[in-house]
Amino acid sequence: MIPFDYRRPGNPAEAVATVIDHEGAAFLGGGTNLVDHMKLGITEPRMLVDVSRLPLDRVTETAGGGLRIGATVRNSDLAAHPWVRRNCPVLSRALLAGASPQLRNTATVGGNLLQRTRCPYFQDLTTACNKREPGSGCAAIGGYNRDHAVLGASEHCIATHPSDMAVAMLVLDAAVVTLGPGGERTLPLAGFHRLPGDAPHRDTVLEHGELITAVELPQLPFARRSAYRKVRDRASYAFALVSVAAALELEGGTVREIRLAFGGLAHKPWRARLAEEALRGAPATEESFRHAADVELAAARPRDGNAFKVPMARNTLVSVLRGLVNGAERVRTDRTEEDR
Ligand code: SF4
Repeated sequence: MIPFDYRRPGNPAEAVATVIDHEGAAFLGGGTNLVDHMKLGITEPRMLVDVSRLPLDRVTETAGGGLRIGATVRNSDLAAHPWVRRNCPVLSRALLAGASPQLRNTATVGGNLLQRTRCPYFQDLTTACNKREPGSGCAAIGGYNRDHAVLGASEHCIATHPSDMAVAMLVLDAAVVTLGPGGERTLPLAGFHRLPGDAPHRDTVLEHGELITAVELPQLPFARRSAYRKVRDRASYAFALVSVAAALELEGGTVREIRLAFGGLAHKPWRARLAEEALRGAPATEESFRHAADVELAAARPRDGNAFKVPMARNTLVSVLRGLVNGAERVRTDRTEEDR
């Protein structure tokens, strides 16, 4: 047991100040990832600043017709929220595809965004890992890399980001609201997570002491026609090999507007902007979908163990879009896990 201090601040500003003032301090939300890492010895914070009871647990509709989600809202509460189920089923489905009911009841929205890779070498202190110990190497390159990245990786790290929720929020044009040393700022989610480059130990652009206070979703009417599909080794409690989030607006048989993102393919949730561009104004046909997937995945650089992810991503994207066009995917997303 490695001793650590524990604080429970009364408001967000006090929480931020406490972390800034104490070297080695870390925010504690639901603890579903951080506490595991402490048990494994991956991280050894000297102080935990508990933000789980701060008044950041509200979901409120904004004046512009969007939604503001407090950072400590539990994943299960957000998945069941009527606004989310009605206006963006992609988010509800993604949340319900993550983890287990027990974990979803505990894990927070802010913590979900900050969860770290499940690369097995990252969690094994006996192996080289640049993310855990900068400069030590990457055991996954040349090792077991079936679960690893095919897009945006570097020679320093080929890990993937594990969140389902973040992939769905990406197609909803979400923004992350933070409070930090410089005050409040709002960041597009698309710029929140980092690619590994030569600093894979940094997962996000957050500064030390910067606290996520909320996530904002703008009104996106066509997100009512949206879906999330997760391909994994077993039906629950498994991370994505590949996942696809999509929102689609049709005009006749043509794609008028579209949002696409992949999970399981990169160090961050991957917005498929090239595929979106290829599809805007194109006929909503299987041929167009396949072409758009190929355009996006042309940059894929698979390793020995994960070449299967490229055709899997292509086929999943095509299947999800086909389902959104013919309505099948909406029927699936109208049902929650509890309905089954
Ligand atoms: Fe570490 Fe990244 Fe390599 Fe995994 S892929 S061993 S997280 S550096």
